[in-house]
Amino acid sequence: NDRLTVCDVHLGKAEMERHAESKVIVAVRVRPLSEDEQERNEESIVFCPDEHNLLVSQEGLVERAFSFNMVFRPECSQQEIFQTTGMRKLIDMAIEGYTCTVFAFGQTGSGKTYTITGPHSLFSEDSQESELEGLMQRSVAYLLERVQHSDELFQLCASYSEIYNEQVRDLLNPWLTYSLAVRGSTTSGFYVENLSVVEFCNLEGFMTLLERGMQNRQSSSQTQNEHSSRSHSILTLYIKHTLTGAEPVAVARGKLCIVDLARGSERVKDRDSDTEKLLEETGNINRSLLTLGKCITALVDPKKRTGHIPYRDSKLTMLLSDSLGGEGITLMIACVSPTAGNLQETMNTLRYSSKAKRIKNKPVAKSD
Ligand code: ADP
Repeated sequence: NDRLTVCDVHLGKAEMERHAESKVIVAVRVRPLSEDEQERNEESIVFCPDEHNLLVSQEGLVERAFSFNMVFRPECSQQEIFQTTGMRKLIDMAIEGYTCTVFAFGQTGSGKTYTITGPHSLFSEDSQESELEGLMQRSVAYLLERVQHSDELFQLCASYSEIYNEQVRDLLNPWLTYSLAVRGSTTSGFYVENLSVVEFCNLEGFMTLLERGMQNRQSSSQTQNEHSSRSHSILTLYIKHTLTGAEPVAVARGKLCIVDLARGSERVKDRDSDTEKLLEETGNINRSLLTLGKCITALVDPKKRTGHIPYRDSKLTMLLSDSLGGEGITLMIACVSPTAGNLQETMNTLRYSSKAKRIKNKPVAKSD
């Protein structure tokens, strides 16, 4: 209605203030031993004495102790993860006009996909399978439930993109254009030029989009799993919320970004002709993860927060600058494998995650 003044607002400031202390929440999830690992009599070296502490311990000797906002034991269910990580709060905030972000991070095989989409990537009618649905499906189901039970007006849209080798690709575009330009600035915010933003109004509509994006992500390479573990994917839900009762009419535009991060530091396996390409990929992934780490470390430090944040140093951080630098909450879920064979990668993941939150890790003497 032209006669009504429309203004963009951020709602629920008081609510936000309660979160100010914990802008970045770091959770660690330890996956259970797989059947193969159990058959090989491998044992877990990662222990969760309580819901905040985690020990990496081999042959009874503590290698290192870490503290995080949340620690999830291997037996934690998908529902518990959704509930305890406070995903509902992030979605409530996105409805109120904030930009919130969830990252899953960790080495290949540590449970990132399981956490984000579950072992079955799509919604399931089967109640046993639906118990295994990941954060993405649960978040969208909760968002739709909130929207459907509200008298206010909502418009829900989604985009799904991938960053591979510092090139951005639109996973919802049938032409699969690589290297979309990223425009904007740190002050005005960055965006991907010509990225498809598609409206959905129910679960089926969202699932059709998600399925299309996932298929496009997989079909881009013959070595499907490898490709998806070497690219970052960003699913963004855009929530336009119009408060009809307010005068003038108020519009809140919030976002929820769900990011599956590639793991860069993994050793490049010998594969002759592929090695050079893999090294380049690894370099790009490492650089973007390093930049993300630098941005988060600067943002959680009140002294550095107002200074220069190096968003421009990678496409990933450019695209996440509004969520990282804004007032919304960032939830990092670090996934770790439990066995000794993964010790190095597990330590890398835990150290990286520790830096994101200024938590003092208890120094534990190595008792050898
Ligand atoms: P990533 O995405 O990090 O490469 P996946 O999510 O594909 O790893 O997990 C690797 C394997 O471990 C899959 O077979 C997955 O089903 C299983 N898995 C991961 N996390 C869990 C968990 N919390 N409970 C049961 N199985 C899990």
